[in-house]
Amino acid sequence: MTTRLLTALILCLCSATIFNAQATAPTAAPVHVTAIKAGRLIDVDAGKALSNQIMLIRDNRFTAVGEAVEIPPGATVIDLSNMTVLPGLIDCHTHLADGARDPSGDPLTYLKRTAAEVALESVPNARLTLESGFTTVRDVGVYRALTDIALRDAIARGDIPGPRMYVAGAYVTITGGAGALTGATPDIQLPWDLRYGQADGPWQVRAVIRKLANNGADHIKILSSGAVLEHGSNPNAQEFTMEELRAAVEEAQAFGLRVEAHAHAAPGIKNAILAGVASIEHATMIDDEGIALAKAHGTYLDMDIYDEECIEEDARHGAIPADFVQHDAALGQIQRDNFRKAVAAGAKMSFGTDAGVCPYGVAARQFAFMVKYGMTPLQAIQAATKNAADLLGHSDVLGSIKPGKYADIIAVQADPLQDVRALENVSFVMKDGKVYKKQ
Ligand SMILES: [Zn+2]
Repeated sequence: MTTRLLTALILCLCSATIFNAQATAPTAAPVHVTAIKAGRLIDVDAGKALSNQIMLIRDNRFTAVGEAVEIPPGATVIDLSNMTVLPGLIDCHTHLADGARDPSGDPLTYLKRTAAEVALESVPNARLTLESGFTTVRDVGVYRALTDIALRDAIARGDIPGPRMYVAGAYVTITGGAGALTGATPDIQLPWDLRYGQADGPWQVRAVIRKLANNGADHIKILSSGAVLEHGSNPNAQEFTMEELRAAVEEAQAFGLRVEAHAHAAPGIKNAILAGVASIEHATMIDDEGIALAKAHGTYLDMDIYDEECIEEDARHGAIPADFVQHDAALGQIQRDNFRKAVAAGAKMSFGTDAGVCPYGVAARQFAFMVKYGMTPLQAIQAATKNAADLLGHSDVLGSIKPGKYADIIAVQADPLQDVRALENVSFVMKDGKVYKKQ
């Protein structure tokens, strides 16, 4: 490039900058305010319903909430005065990014699609979840690693509608374990992203967690015991050792990440609690000692007590393989009975459904089961709002309708404190100050 040409280019760029500055400086766009009138609002922190509340929203956050809040002139007003308003719901155990729901357990399912196809097939899963009232999810693992990160980021950019996602990136699992893609013959070498999270021994566990942290995971999912919906896995078996679990928690902490542990069997549950995980997923066969340990360590129990309905339904239609049905025998009821015990004991409970086992968009059906098995409707709602936000480590921005928090709200016609099934029909959904559903 000649000097003269370079000078001309610089002059040109400078004058363009000046021109833009002059054009935009005097007319800075006014901050837009949305005002929402709520007939009733459930204050999950105080544990009570409030009447005739007004919420003001600027950008994606609440700026004021109360009965005497003045609506500024020019604000967009949304009138929900004939509805009950709640914070956006949070599901702490989803699998949105594994593509179209497929209960067949066939490993070929994952070998017939590229990662791009899996991610794009997941787009409706995200939309259905958001439209059913869940504005945030903790997505706890994918078979094809990192599709969840692609989905999370596409939603965050506003390219597609979906809940705010906090993702695991992959499953951290023993070889052939609860998070491995099993069922193929041993002489098949799976592609890298279908065996990304397999780790045996504490240093391999640490190495996988380092990769996940570097690739953008928000938290770490480890598989402490065997699984139900997995070939060659036994839900009664302990998989990772204590040494491996401790290495996982320590390594994750070094990156500021929390760990959730899948565990059905009592030893797998107790080892994971002692290792310092933030939550136990499923907690199916938790015993009294395990419940006491969870309480003592402040570990959340994230128990998916509704999805047994879907497993049984799939089994009736022959849609899931016989070995999965065999693993599952009696576990559904055992888990529900243990949920009741954990609630009665006062353990910390969050709301997680294992979405993907059931079709997407029906997660709210679990609320009625949580009430049936010992919670009050308010406790069930708190599990999916306040407690879930605490488990995620984001109570500063999620989980209740308070100034400073993200403007995530839902509204329902009936009173969910009287009949929690009202949450199965959500009429209004706002996430980050943007309306996604209004009936
Ligand atoms: Zn799961």
